[in-house]
Amino acid sequence: MYALQEPRYWLEPPEPETVGYCAECGQDIYAGEDIWEIKGELYCEYCMDSFKKEAENENGNCF
Ligand SMILES: [Zn+2]
Repeated sequence: MYALQEPRYWLEPPEPETVGYCAECGQDIYAGEDIWEIKGELYCEYCMDSFKKEAENENGNCF
């Protein structure tokens, strides 16, 4: 039995600067991350990626 320990990195500042939060998932978005701004709303890269896949599915519907 052992405790799961996460690696700790001290290279980053302890309090990263937040620039806002994702309008889709509500997750904080930090400066330096990939940020998508659409019509004044911020979206994180993860949500934008899922948006793209949804759009591809709609446009590429072969059924
Ligand atoms: Zn998001």
